[in-house]
Amino acid sequence: MRFRDQKNVDACVDLVRYAAAAGINYFDTAPGYGESEALMGRIIPELKRQGVAGGHPVYVATKSNKTKPGEVRRDLECSLERLGVDAIDFFHMWCVVTPEEYRRRKANGVLRELDRMKDEGLIRHVCLSTHMAGPDIAATLGDYPFDSVLLGYSPINSAYRTEGVDGAAALGRGVVVMNPLGGGVIPRHADRFRFLATRPGDSVVGGALRFLLDDSRLNVLLVGFSEKREIDEAADAVRRFEPLSEAEQQRIRQGLNESFNAMCTGCRYCEPCPQGIPVSRYLEAWNHRQLDGTMDDVLMRLRAHWGIRADNHTLDECTECRRCETACTQQLPVVERLRAIRCAMNADN
Ligand code: SF4
Ligand code: SF4
Repeated sequence: MRFRDQKNVDACVDLVRYAAAAGINYFDTAPGYGESEALMGRIIPELKRQGVAGGHPVYVATKSNKTKPGEVRRDLECSLERLGVDAIDFFHMWCVVTPEEYRRRKANGVLRELDRMKDEGLIRHVCLSTHMAGPDIAATLGDYPFDSVLLGYSPINSAYRTEGVDGAAALGRGVVVMNPLGGGVIPRHADRFRFLATRPGDSVVGGALRFLLDDSRLNVLLVGFSEKREIDEAADAVRRFEPLSEAEQQRIRQGLNESFNAMCTGCRYCEPCPQGIPVSRYLEAWNHRQLDGTMDDVLMRLRAHWGIRADNHTLDECTECRRCETACTQQLPVVERLRAIRCAMNADN
């Protein structure tokens, strides 16, 4: 999804070939990433035949966010054709943002259809792609034997998801990380995250990747590449990887604490709200205002990450009882932030 110009087919194919030459062998795409699947289809069959540097096999991952079994099957058939392969290595139930959403798709028979398609040899692994909070991820993995889970995880939001990662590790499921650089927030705010670069000559990106490479619960990091320089930087971080020392871990922990001063850490002590408002999601989105500076970023985060659109009126139910604010471990002005978000949502609607 990070191809800079999808119309420039040769450049996109060349970028993937360059990544394979660097030893990268897991490629994640989706029907919703513009022409990404068709572009990957120009190179994946060749890479499948040849393998990547070092002779390692190539894996391709794609997804369906459809909620009915027949629609999921049609998505899969289209993906197979576009990608030019006989089977998808990792096929995801895509964009599950709430436990209710998961239960709805399950009740519709989506999981049974995924099982059937796996039995037919069209899918090698059935996977979950989710933006749920950690405890909900752990519960979902306990409900169905997804082979792996694809989740957003970075130094910025690790607190939100760590329980889900723990759950996956305990159940022996794979963990694939999307947005390991916080969707570009970390390189854009290199000064703020300088504490991640713990060694001489380190870049902030290299430091952030080392933080994740050091976590044995994680199996794949999906670093989005737009140019060869970014591939070189990530490949270099892997090549030079050496585990973090106790002192480095301590320094990063301290940096995270200081960096998240006045920011929501995702601990969820503010929940449950008597009105059923998912307070931590709104406050997590607010973090992006502090990092990137505008309310538009907050609304975009709510929409894209948490599936909360501007026409969602849940915040109108807030009685300002301040139960969430009293419980907040960071002593954040929770109600004031919720009020500001509510105003922005109403203005946007
Ligand atoms: S202040 Fe609003 S969001 Fe917080 S607990 Fe009360 S009703 Fe829920
Ligand atoms: S208690 Fe405070 S820091 Fe924790 S999730 Fe809620 S708002 Fe965020």
